[in-house]
Amino acid sequence: MKLVLLGPSGAGKGTQAKQLSKVFGIPHISTGDILRGHITRSTEIGQQIEHIMDTGKLVPDAIVIELARERVAETDCVRGFILDGFPRNLYQAEVLCEMALGIDRVICIRLDDEVIIKRMSGRFSCPACGAVYHTEYYPPKVTGICDTCGNELIQREDDKESTVANRLRIYHEMTEPIISFFYEKNILTEVNGLGSAEDITDQIIKLFRED
Ligand code: AMP
Repeated sequence: MKLVLLGPSGAGKGTQAKQLSKVFGIPHISTGDILRGHITRSTEIGQQIEHIMDTGKLVPDAIVIELARERVAETDCVRGFILDGFPRNLYQAEVLCEMALGIDRVICIRLDDEVIIKRMSGRFSCPACGAVYHTEYYPPKVTGICDTCGNELIQREDDKESTVANRLRIYHEMTEPIISFFYEKNILTEVNGLGSAEDITDQIIKLFRED
C-alpha cells in the first residue's frame, strides 16, 4: 500500500504515519526527518538547508525530490510506504506522479490554524533527554523543568509562534493546492484532525477496509 499523508505541520501527520506504519508493516518516510538527519550529521546538504528549516521555509525542490526518490527506491519500500511531508507543493506532486509508483491514496488531515498554533506554540522539550511537554496538555511538574532529568526545557526554533505562523502561511500558499490536484485524480480522502490520535488512526484504517 502506497500512501501519502497531507496536512499542516501540527495536524498529527507524523503521529498517524508512525501508527499506520506499524499497523500495515510498511516504512514511514518523513522528508522532514531525512532532512533533520542531514543537519545532525552536518552533511553538505545539512549545511545548505539548516537556516531554511529554522525559518520554516521549504527546502529547494531539487534536494527534497532527490532524497525522496532515493528513499522510495530502497528495498523496504517494495510492499509500500507512507509518505509524510512529501509532496509539499504542486511541482513535487507532479514529479511524484511522474515517478509512476502507483500511489493508492492521499489522506489529508484537516485542522484549523488556531488549534495548530495552540498545539505547537505550547510545546517545550528537554535538550538532554528529548522528552516533550506541553504547557496546557502535558505540563511538567515544575514549570520549565524536565520531570525526568531536571534540565531546563527549551522551545524548538520551529515551534516558536512566529515560525509556526510562517509555516501555516506557506502550507496554505504552497501545499494546499495539492489537495485539489489529488482530488481530481480521485485518490484523495479528507480526515478531521480534531480528536484523539487513536480515533483518527481508526478512521483511517476503516477507509482501507472499505476500499
Ligand atoms: P516536517 O517535519 O515535515 O514538518 O518538515 C520540517 C521542515 O523540513 C519543513 O518546514 C521544511 O523546511 C522541510 N521539508 C520537509 N519536507 C519538505 C518538502 N517535501 N519540501 C520542502 N521542504 C520540506
